[in-house]
Amino acid sequence: MPRPKSLLKSFDFDNAKKAHNCQHNGKHRINAGDKRLKLKVNRTHEHYCLECAKKIIESDLLKLKSALEQINE
Ligand SMILES: [Zn+2]
Repeated sequence: MPRPKSLLKSFDFDNAKKAHNCQHNGKHRINAGDKRLKLKVNRTHEHYCLECAKKIIESDLLKLKSALEQINE
């Protein structure tokens, strides 16, 4: 069976090796060892703090819900 395709860009969670700023909002600080969202963007990866990760996931959930509604109309 072919694997189902996904609308979501590939993402993962990992832990920061060293402290850096969140790449979605530079005011957010990610400390060494913190869990962060790793999102594949073009050929590179961007890392976001969990606060931004939540907002991204919530917004994607809404988009997916509305996509389903358009199909079911
Ligand atoms: Zn952030």
